[in-house]
Amino acid sequence: MNFSFKPHDFEFFIPANCMSCQSICVTQLRLCQSCRRAAFRNEPSEFRNSGLNVTAATTWIPDENRALSLLLKSLKGNDFREDWAELAREFVARLPLKRLEPLCPNSTDSGAPKNQRFVLVPAPASSEGRLHALHFAEGIAQLIGLEVFDVLRHRPSGQSSHQITDASLEGGVPAQKARDKKQRKLRTFYRSRVLPSQCIPIIVDDIVTSGGTAHAAWQAFGRIEKAQVWCFAHRQLDGRGKL
Ligand SMILES: [Zn+2]
Repeated sequence: MNFSFKPHDFEFFIPANCMSCQSICVTQLRLCQSCRRAAFRNEPSEFRNSGLNVTAATTWIPDENRALSLLLKSLKGNDFREDWAELAREFVARLPLKRLEPLCPNSTDSGAPKNQRFVLVPAPASSEGRLHALHFAEGIAQLIGLEVFDVLRHRPSGQSSHQITDASLEGGVPAQKARDKKQRKLRTFYRSRVLPSQCIPIIVDDIVTSGGTAHAAWQAFGRIEKAQVWCFAHRQLDGRGKL
């Protein structure tokens, strides 16, 4: 009989240390209780971004929150479905009930116009195929009963130019051009199929910084009224929400 064990066969038995303080008392998300509290110490954030209502479970200022930065970095490039389910629990737990309840199915005080309902639409998978937004949306859906419609896709490059309407793309300073190029890259989503009629999308993303991805998604839905954005973290680069 051939017994051969590889190191990862034992990972189940050897819990990793807290990735922030190295404590061995790790809970979910590879953080100890106290680092988890530190990571999520900021309040939820609700704000308007060029006509869209955005709700975030927490604000994230990378230089000021080491534990949260480490956590979000650890999720990059991987598809930790369970971790995103845990972040979905955190998201739902942090939102005031009066904010969530009207959006849920069978609500008596529905925020949706008559005969319409809210559904969750994750931002499309990144070019590397990461499914963070989808996992996050599925986690939220399980908790509050909204349906997920994974219908947004990246438009193949070369088919996006007609989507660009900014006059600023013509001419302008190089920095502006670079920003526009970045925006153009983001503004290339399309719907792989239409939503059932009467559905209002809640666009779900893992992290919102400038709101470019959320706006591309909104644009793919014809800037439908009442659409909104839910994300785990609102990333602020200078502490005041400005880039
Ligand atoms: Zn810790």
